[in-house]
Amino acid sequence: IYILGIESSCDDTSAAVICNGKILSNVVANQEIHTKYGGVVPELASRAHQQNIVPVIQQAIQQANIDKKDLNAIAFTRGPGLMGSLLVGTSFAKSLSLALDIPLIAVNHMQGHVLAHFIEEENQQIPPFPFICLTISGGHTQIVKITNHFNMEVLGETLDDAVGEAFDKSAKILGLPYPGGPLIDKYAQLGNPKAFKFTKPRVNDLNFSFSGLKTGILYFIQKKVKENSNFIQENLNDICASIQHTIVEILFEKLKKTVQQTGIKHIAIAGGVSANSEIRKVLKGTEEKFGWKTYIPKFEYTTDNAAMIAIVGYLKYLENNFSEESTSATARLKVSEN
Ligand code: ATP
Ligand code: FE
Repeated sequence: IYILGIESSCDDTSAAVICNGKILSNVVANQEIHTKYGGVVPELASRAHQQNIVPVIQQAIQQANIDKKDLNAIAFTRGPGLMGSLLVGTSFAKSLSLALDIPLIAVNHMQGHVLAHFIEEENQQIPPFPFICLTISGGHTQIVKITNHFNMEVLGETLDDAVGEAFDKSAKILGLPYPGGPLIDKYAQLGNPKAFKFTKPRVNDLNFSFSGLKTGILYFIQKKVKENSNFIQENLNDICASIQHTIVEILFEKLKKTVQQTGIKHIAIAGGVSANSEIRKVLKGTEEKFGWKTYIPKFEYTTDNAAMIAIVGYLKYLENNFSEESTSATARLKVSEN
């Protein structure tokens, strides 16, 4: 079974071909244009998707070494995301499915981040049900309990900013370009995580909050820069390491609480921020420390990609779960909604 996956929910245009659970190609076109604006500009994202989508899909089919007539279905991201961006992928998927006369499969982007763990890779363990997934991305921070491929329950989530935003906004305060998350990760590797202390939020249950942390970082930096205008340059590695350390502590306190409450010790991470080297290291360490079994996605399946959409497409195909031609894109969609 060959399935084409199309992803266009935010600022990356991506297409992938999957064959029975194995990825044959996964092409991602990043949109450089947003860097100079310090964030994603929706109108520009939509326009760039329109320019990229045909070559990206062509490349994905070519790299998979198949003909488009070999495809059995087309999976596309229906939501959540930016409406203008989602519409480009959705319309294209619909026309292609009509042209090739093959079924259409609508995919929930957040389920895609989680179910990327079901892509068959060498030396990759597939998590058994039930498992917990900490989904950390540019727009979401969620602790999800997965009892079946399409049965997901949010146990906790952020009440304000997502953890990706916390990384990116902190980076912006430090004068780093967008998206700053990967840069904080890079500089942090050379810094002392205990150099500076930031107040952690107090949030009930398994929920998170990151907006207070961001404000705390902003005030701290403003104060220090007033005293010494070279403060950031002189301490960049230590600042980044301290910010990252604080964020990682917040995440793992809640994960520990989740394991205590649910008794589930199979723990996965997903989403763009799961690319973070410290989060990966700390999670791996819990295997020995607490006896957890952990699942860390391959780097290319962390930030937005169509491979994760294609695997969901395949899993739905196996259940004959197809979508109507009238299915529409939706900016808001919960991970629990199919
Ligand atoms: P959503 O999936 O919630 O709709 P999104 O698709 O925009 O949001 P992703 O592409 O999954 O988000 O993730 C992007 C985020 O991941 C950005 O905030 C980016 O800074 C962050 N990120 C990527 N790599 C790293 C890293 N190594 N360390 C920290 N953050 C990172
Ligand atoms: Fe995403």
